[in-house]
Amino acid sequence: MSQPLLQVSNLHVNFADKQVVCGVEFSLKPGQCLALVGESGSGKSVTALSILQLLPYPHAQHPKGSILYQGQELLGAAPGDLRQLRGNRISMIFQEPMTSLNPLHTVEKQLTESLLLHRKLNRQQIQQRLLELLDLVGIPQPERRLRQYPHELSGGLRQRVMIAMALANEPELLIADEPTTALDVTIQKQILELLTELRQRLNMAILLITHDLNVVRRYADQVCVLYQGQQIEYQECAKLFAQPQAQYTRDLLAAEP
Ligand code: ADP
Ligand code: MG
Repeated sequence: MSQPLLQVSNLHVNFADKQVVCGVEFSLKPGQCLALVGESGSGKSVTALSILQLLPYPHAQHPKGSILYQGQELLGAAPGDLRQLRGNRISMIFQEPMTSLNPLHTVEKQLTESLLLHRKLNRQQIQQRLLELLDLVGIPQPERRLRQYPHELSGGLRQRVMIAMALANEPELLIADEPTTALDVTIQKQILELLTELRQRLNMAILLITHDLNVVRRYADQVCVLYQGQQIEYQECAKLFAQPQAQYTRDLLAAEP
C-alpha cells in the first residue's frame, strides 16, 4: 500500500471565539478521491483552506492539529515552503470561476502565468503546453479560445479554463471546492467525468468538496461527513452508503432525492 499523500489529524480552527472546525481527520493516498460533505457552514471550505493556510487571517486563528503532506508538517511551515506547494504540487479550484479568472486578461495570458509560476519555459514550449492543456480539459478550437477573455466564454468553458490552470503544473493533489455547484447538470457531469479521467491519467488525488451525495456516490473512494465543524463519520464510500454509522448520515441519505 502506498503512503498517504495527505494526512489531516485532529484539525481545529477558530474564527475569533467560534470553533468552526473541531477534530477533523482523514488521510488521502495518491490517486484517491476523498469527498468532504456536509450542509452549508459545516466547515468544509475552512478545512480545505487550512491545508495551504489560505484562511482569512487575522480573523481566523491559526489551525491546530496536524496536516502532513508526504510526511512534511504543513501547519506552521515556512511561507516559502507553502508557496512552493501552492499551484505546483497542490492546486485548488473553486465554485465560481469568475472570481478566480482575471476579467482583463485573455485565457492565454492567465494560463501562461500559471505555467510559468514554478518553471521556466521558452515561447515554443509555452505554446505547445497551452494547446495540450486545453486539449486535456476538452476545450475545442484552442487557438481561438486562447485569444478570448473570460466574459466571452460560457460558464462550463470558464470552469474548464480554471481546471486547465489548476492542472498546468500537474499537481499531485487537487482541492476542488464545489467545482460544479454553479453549473447546470450536464456540464456538471462532464466536468466531474473529466476530473475522474485526469485523476486516473495523472494519478492525481482529489479532495472533493460537495453537498451532493449523488456526486459522492459516483466519484469518491472515501467520504468524510461534517456537521457544525465536527466530523460525524469517515468511511469508505461504498460502506457509507450501504451501512451509515451515524444517525446524522442516515438522515442525510434518507433526505436524498
Ligand atoms: P462550508 O464550506 O461547509 O459551507 P465554511 O467552511 O465556509 O462552511 O464555514 C464554516 C464556518 O466558518 C461557518 O460557520 C462560517 O460562518 C465560518 N466562517 C467561514 N469563513 C469565515 C470568515 N471569513 N469569517 C468568519 N467566519 C467564517
Ligand atoms: Mg464552502
